[in-house]
Amino acid sequence: MARAGVASRRESERMIKAGRVQVNGQVVKELGTKVTGADVVLVDGQLIEREQKVYILFYKPRGVISAAKDDKGRKVVTDFFKDIYQQRLYPVGRLDYDTSGLLLMTNDGDLANKLMHPRYKVNKTYVAKVAGIPTNDELEKLRHGIIIDGRKTAPAKSKVLSTDMKKQTAIVSLTIHEGRNHQVKKMLQAIGHPVKKLKRETYGFLTLKGLTSGEYRELKHDEIELLK
Ligand code: URA
Repeated sequence: MARAGVASRRESERMIKAGRVQVNGQVVKELGTKVTGADVVLVDGQLIEREQKVYILFYKPRGVISAAKDDKGRKVVTDFFKDIYQQRLYPVGRLDYDTSGLLLMTNDGDLANKLMHPRYKVNKTYVAKVAGIPTNDELEKLRHGIIIDGRKTAPAKSKVLSTDMKKQTAIVSLTIHEGRNHQVKKMLQAIGHPVKKLKRETYGFLTLKGLTSGEYRELKHDEIELLK
């Protein structure tokens, strides 16, 4: 009930105990009764609509945790939405605390699970500033797949976008469809070019176009359909 925006958790509990809630025609006074989208829930005789699904493309800034809560009290991605959406939104996958870029946020658990499943192989393009200038031979290792944490990665697309000879750094793009922990950092580290800065530029066909760090937009209907 709280998730459907009827009332706060505590107030919802009071309403249930007071016998004001019916599930499929029966008054339910037991707290914690589980309902699915197929159940008909009435409060004071009024039908409760199922929670509206929300799909957000968020430009996560650096210095934000990709979770709903942080036990160290650091800023989390859901902080950006809690005053705007009643729904509880979750990030689809994760970006590191110090990584910026495209992060989908939704309350559609089915779609989130599907997108995160390795079977779906959603391509994600990252742009990294790395120490040193990677050679073509080094990038070739990433293109073939490289062992990290004892397991070979899938072949990745990779190229040098620009170099700064004075500072001995390069901007490199890397496209992967896996989502292993710190994968991009580990892959670039494995070829001898530690990441200094990382940003995710694309997620499947979605890009950050039109957004600056900390901004977001709702996905359009056809974008949602394409993701599904
Ligand atoms: N790979 C990383 O190393 N970090 C991220 O945040 C995302 C991908």
